[in-house]
This record gives sequence, C-alpha cells and structure tokens, in this order.
Amino acid sequence: MQATSSHARPFVSLVGAGPGDPDLLTVKALRLIQSADVVVYDRLVSEEIMALVNPQAELLFVGKKLNHHCVPQEQINKILVDKALQNKHVVRLKGGDPFIFGRGGEELATLVDHHIAFEVVPGITAASGCSAYAGIPLTHRDHAQSVQFITGHLKQQGQDIDWPSLAHTNHTLVFYMGLKQAPVIRQNLICHGLAIDTPCAIIERGTTAKQRVLTGKLSELEQLAAQAISPSLIIVGTVTRLHQQLNWFNK
Ligand code: SAH
Repeated sequence: MQATSSHARPFVSLVGAGPGDPDLLTVKALRLIQSADVVVYDRLVSEEIMALVNPQAELLFVGKKLNHHCVPQEQINKILVDKALQNKHVVRLKGGDPFIFGRGGEELATLVDHHIAFEVVPGITAASGCSAYAGIPLTHRDHAQSVQFITGHLKQQGQDIDWPSLAHTNHTLVFYMGLKQAPVIRQNLICHGLAIDTPCAIIERGTTAKQRVLTGKLSELEQLAAQAISPSLIIVGTVTRLHQQLNWFNK
C-alpha cells in the first residue's frame, strides 16, 4: 500500500472516483479514501462515495459547475499544497478519471513545483461507465472501429474543434460537458457530413439509480439536450441503437 494516514512527508493521491456508482471505485481508491487525512472533492463525486470516506478525515468541497466556479483552480492547487505541507495524506478525489477532462495534470504540476510527492489512481471515466450501464458498446464490429472523447466546453462556437476529423461513419463520438453546446455540436457535425438521422443518445447521471437514457437522431440533439440535466454525456453514432437491445440497467 502506497499511502496511509501516518505519512511522514507531504503526499497527495490524485484519485478517480468513477462515474457515480460506488461499486465502480477501484480497490485502491477505496483503500485511500478510507485512510486519508484530508479529502478534497468536487461536485461529481457521489454522496454514496463520500459516505465511504474515513470519518476522521477533513473534507473540503471544491465543487465546480460550468459558469459557477465555486473555488478557482489556483485556490484548489493552493489547498492541496498547504494541506500536504502539514504532512497530511491528502486525497484529491475527482469524478471519473482524473486525467480525462479532469485538470489532473494542472494540479500535479503545482505539486511538482513544490516538490510534493504524489501518485495517480485512475478511475472509470464517464464514457466507459455510462456506456456500459446504458448498454451502448462504444465500439462494435458492425458499427464503429474507433471512438473519440471530446470536450463540449468549447470556446468560440466550436472553432477550437477539428470537426472534419469527427464527422465520420464507423466512428463513435462521446461529448463530455456538451449539453449547453448541443446546437453547436449538431450543426457542425451535420455541416461536415454526418447524416441528420445519425442515431445519438444522452446519458444523464449515468451509473446511478437516477440514470436516464434519451435517444434520438442527430437532428434532434438540441431538443434531447434541453430535456437533460447535468451531468450528462452525449454519444453520437450508430452504436447508440444497440441501447434498445442491450439495455440491462434500471429495467
Ligand atoms: N474526469 C471526468 C470528467 C469530468 S468533465 C471523467 O473521467 O468522467 C464532467 C463531465 O463528465 C460532465 O459534464 C458529463 O459530461 C460527464 N460525466 C461525469 N459523470 C457523469 C455521469 N455520471 N453521467 C453522465 N455524464 C457524466
């Protein structure tokens, strides 16, 4: 075991908590949250997971929501450094995987600057967890030979995305943080060649008891997104049709 609460030196574990279902925590993540001195966590970490944390640990919520920056990133970085320098074992707990749209790299760079030792514990990212619980294989020999994870948190109406490289058949697209930008996503994918009837799905609060799966066509993406709440994942591609057949969860 790498880290315990009796650390003699500053140490931070950057830990992925998975998409919501506490049973999707890794064994290592569970062990670390049960022995941490300090847990710094955000909005995507489910209540059920927080209930598993060491009851003696100091809990610091630094939740972030699009357009509601509760705690600026620089301040989160400072909290990690300050707590670790008190020779505490700090667990930085993030939804999903810390290296997939999680700004994990930025937090680690600050630790490096302060010569603080760390480890990284991967988690099940939303794309894997939600697609599994929705019965949507991200690749399938008859549908998609590749899959791409894309942030929907776009600057300048999507000009920062290479749309021509996304608009292909036999390819699955998974948009994180895409609800607000659903009109931009729909418009660009259609403009760059995807058929308007390309099947798509939105998975809301995936892997939790409240999971909801909305399905439709690319031309309807905006209307589907308007019915969904965060956190939601958008999947575009013919694999989403398999949900009808392979859905097993929440039946
Ligand atoms: N590091 C995280 C992603 C953080 S970005 C990971 O690897 O999963 C936040 C986005 O992830 C949300 O806006 C949403 O698009 C997606 N997401 C995270 N958890 C989700 C869930 N349980 N259901 C649906 N989408 C989820």
